Amino acid sequence: MPRRKKCRNLQGPPGCNSFKPKGIPGKFLKKVIISLDEYESIRLADYDNLDHEGAAVKLGVSRSVFTRLVDTARKKVAVALIEGCELSIEGGEYHFQKKYFRCMQCYRISETGIDNNDLTDCPYCGSYNMHNLNTDFGLKGQCRRHGY
Ligand SMILES: [Zn+2]
Repeated sequence: MPRRKKCRNLQGPPGCNSFKPKGIPGKFLKKVIISLDEYESIRLADYDNLDHEGAAVKLGVSRSVFTRLVDTARKKVAVALIEGCELSIEGGEYHFQKKYFRCMQCYRISETGIDNNDLTDCPYCGSYNMHNLNTDFGLKGQCRRHGY
C-alpha cells in the first residue's frame, strides 16, 4: 500500500475557487484542476517569492516534493492560460491554519482561529450572511488526520 501523503499547511484559501474565460459558457470549456497544495506552492514560490527550501518548510513537505508540486502547478496554469480553459482549484491533501469566512453582504474576508466557533456575523458590516470558505475546495476544508 502506498504511504499516505502528508497533509500540507495552507496559509489560507484562494479568494475564489474557479477562473474562467469571459463570455464562454462553462460546458464548452476544458477544465484544468489544480489542487490546493499546488495552489499554495504558487503562492509561496511566485507570490511570496520564497526559495524552494523555505517554501517547502512552510508547506510541510520536502524540497523535492515542493519542486515537483510547483512545476506541476505552473504547467497547469500555463495550459489554462494558453488554451483558454477554466481553471478550478479543488482537492488535495491540506489543512488550513485558520477558519476563513466571506461576508456575502460586503464580500470582505474574515478569519478566526481553527479551534474557535464559526463566525456568525461580519466584523465589518454586521451581516449574518457568512460563508465558510474552508468548505469550498473539496474534503470540506478538512484534513482527515488533523480532523479539521
Ligand atoms: Zn460584511
